[in-house]
Amino acid sequence: MSLSIAIIGSGPAGFYTADALTSACPDCRVDFIERLPTPFGLIRGGVAPDHQTTKRVTKKYENTAMMEQVNFYGNVEIGRDLSLDELRTMYDAVVLAIGAPADKKLTIPGADKIGVHGSAAFVGWYNGHPDFRDLEPDLNTNAAVVIGNGNVAIDVARVLLRSPDGMADSDLPDHVASRIHAAPITDVHVVGRRGPADAKFTNVELREMGNLNMTHPCVKADQLPDDLDTVLAGYAERDRRLRARNIETLREFAALENQGKPKKVHFEFFATPVEIMGGERVEAIRFERTTVEDGKCLGSGQFFDIECGLVIPSIGYRSEPLAGAPFDDKQGIIPNDNGRIAPGLYAVGWIKRGPSGVISSNRPDGNIVAEYIAEDITADPKRTGRDRLEAVLKERHVRWVDYADWKKLEAMEIENAAGKAPRKKFVTVDDMIHALDGFPN
Ligand code: NAP
Repeated sequence: MSLSIAIIGSGPAGFYTADALTSACPDCRVDFIERLPTPFGLIRGGVAPDHQTTKRVTKKYENTAMMEQVNFYGNVEIGRDLSLDELRTMYDAVVLAIGAPADKKLTIPGADKIGVHGSAAFVGWYNGHPDFRDLEPDLNTNAAVVIGNGNVAIDVARVLLRSPDGMADSDLPDHVASRIHAAPITDVHVVGRRGPADAKFTNVELREMGNLNMTHPCVKADQLPDDLDTVLAGYAERDRRLRARNIETLREFAALENQGKPKKVHFEFFATPVEIMGGERVEAIRFERTTVEDGKCLGSGQFFDIECGLVIPSIGYRSEPLAGAPFDDKQGIIPNDNGRIAPGLYAVGWIKRGPSGVISSNRPDGNIVAEYIAEDITADPKRTGRDRLEAVLKERHVRWVDYADWKKLEAMEIENAAGKAPRKKFVTVDDMIHALDGFPN
């Protein structure tokens, strides 16, 4: 039996699914449908530009993309170029791997002021994601506040503080580098609403904040717990070890003397944002002191302000609904039964289970869905799949970008890179298409 399967989205969840499908049924045909002309989702557009080692995972994805039965249709948007319902008539199974591209909104007064940028937009901007090319944040301030205690908050703080030298072998786009490196930012405050034991940073990322050339990490020793056993009591054994390591690192930071580094990252715990203040633009942010009891964050009625000209809420991501599929607005995911949505329709990754976990957390999702597809699709295969898709795209004059086109774009990005940079990214879709097809007369 030769099945035709479409995967919408070509980030890690999509690639692990394709990998599992091609192993489970070697003669099936798997087609990626991707909104951007470029593959790899958050690996290209979310993983920080100075974390090139993490981005190397794409070499493994490439082995899957190069398989004969796998095709890539980039620059094709479901909902714009064709509907999900249409796609479902063409393929035996459709897998949604569309992630969580939007920000969880900060809903306090003043959150819409100029100078407040959610992490999805800010991270997209510094990664050269075409959607955020024109964000142009005003970085003309001495102080920035990053709200949240996850890895994204750490990434944002590090990218704002890292020196040009430290960024030399990154793929930070030029229009971003010129803004960040000219900015007078000397202080970045990373603020968590709960305590250091509850922070979601992973330890490697936290430790990196102690190794920056120009930046001294500041931690208030009195915010660190004396009794680890009590504060970690509610966590599972493995989690306890990871969190204890973070506390150890924060203790080291608290004891560290500044060796003349001109910038500072301030870790502030037990503070929940209540208002962003200023006129049109942000001038300060007000926090309420909190305590944590039984894992709950409680207000204390005591407030303090941090003056700043830039606020980056890094409080998590959210998926967006896709016409033709159900959506649970409260949870921000597609309702599913461990990946099954409806006959022939499946979900993997963040759209299935919410925005959590590391890159490899997506692998089991792909394995499960590949098993379900092999189990569920028992009728005769439709066999139309990509033939019908290509016919419709041609009819609608959609210029899709296949994997060979992507390899051409990639070669140009590598060729155009200066110094130690691994690539100079194309940052608009028009530039990518023009680079492939030449500029119109
Ligand atoms: P995250 O890990 O869920 O962290 C979100 C943070 O925002 C938490 O500290 C949370 O506090 C806080 N928060 C949520 N709502 C808030 C509110 N209304 N006010 C104040 N604080 C609020 O999310 P993330 O940092 O966006 O990361 C998403 C996923 O990507 C994570 O699994 C992360 O590990 C992964 N990631 C990994 C890397 C890496 O491995 N290097 C890099 C980037 C991202 P509470 O805990 O109190 O809810």
